[in-house]
Amino acid sequence: MRESIYLDYAASTPLDPEVEAHMLPYLRAVGNPSSIHALGRYLRAAIEESRAIIAELIGAEPGQIIFTSGGTEADNHALWGSVETWSIQHILYNPTEHHAVLHTIESLCRLRGVQAHPIAVDALGRVDLDHLEELLRRYPRSLVSVMYANNEIGTLQPVQEIASLVQSYEGYYHCDTVQVMGLGWVEVRNWAVDFIAASAHKFYGPKGIGFLYRRRPIRSFITGGSQERNQRAGTENVAGIVGMAYALKKAYTNSESYVSHLLSIKSYLIEQLTHAFSEIVFHGDITARGGHPGILNFRIPSNQLGNLVLIHLDIEGICASGTSACASGSEHPSHVLEAIGIPSEYAQEAIRFSWGIGIEKEHIDRALRALRSISYEPA
Ligand code: PLP
Repeated sequence: MRESIYLDYAASTPLDPEVEAHMLPYLRAVGNPSSIHALGRYLRAAIEESRAIIAELIGAEPGQIIFTSGGTEADNHALWGSVETWSIQHILYNPTEHHAVLHTIESLCRLRGVQAHPIAVDALGRVDLDHLEELLRRYPRSLVSVMYANNEIGTLQPVQEIASLVQSYEGYYHCDTVQVMGLGWVEVRNWAVDFIAASAHKFYGPKGIGFLYRRRPIRSFITGGSQERNQRAGTENVAGIVGMAYALKKAYTNSESYVSHLLSIKSYLIEQLTHAFSEIVFHGDITARGGHPGILNFRIPSNQLGNLVLIHLDIEGICASGTSACASGSEHPSHVLEAIGIPSEYAQEAIRFSWGIGIEKEHIDRALRALRSISYEPA
């Protein structure tokens, strides 16, 4: 059978075999890390060592890292925890956030009477800092949620500027860094951010494990036992935690060559697409400085298959997405493309390619051949 080409790294990266090997002894280990006997202490030590590794990489203190079941839980924890701890009344949010943030804000409005205010974004999906400041002036001490990189269109936000602005109005800043954690860019020491969310399966670690950095303790989102210093109840996913720390260390060590590989694939892809499809429309900021190096979202106006384009690519052995994996079961076209003004009939034809380790120009060439067959433009 012909091997398929995986161009959906933003949905989930493959598990690094080295990470897997590192996890195996902990997957098999007997015992509970909360037990005080030797087997329990062995697992507890592995958790604390992993916490220290992650904290050092991102410039935090170990006590500021809470292990979660992934990015979604980390986002929920940050938003629920700050509303419950600091009686937040207003949340200012970027409308292109992941549903883990948007749906949590909806719940907080319904269940806690919080008021949510969208921040204006431009046609590339960047938040309007003047509008954010106007909102902060009106609602000081708000909680602000603006992600680092958008998972659908890759647009990067000016997170340092946002953090300083929020700080000057005594607000709290939650930044979903899920898509950039593997690039080695996150360093919280000199960044006035209150929360960041991360997920291991976006940087070649296992699925179902992530972490939340929080500057100060907040009320626990999951109640039960006293694990994670009473901040997140539940027996820890030890193998996942160990694997995540290993994967993150590897990502930070190799970040320079990794980002440059991603960028070389991106510029090749843009060049080839532009050459093959004269009217191609890119969504989001596609520049090296303004966009994620491993994500490209576009529409081919000469596409004859309409919203069946992804099914066609799948049949051709190309695994890509049109929207975030978590929203692909829904009937609504992408809320991200809607927020940047793309009409829904066009949004349904959007294609997101995302790539990483193991993807080379020849894989892109095969994807391009599959794309050419959908278009009526002469090749
Ligand atoms: N936030 C962003 C920006 C994401 O891209 C994702 C996953 O795609 C999440 C949050 C959710 O992370 P997880 O899949 O670990 O729950």
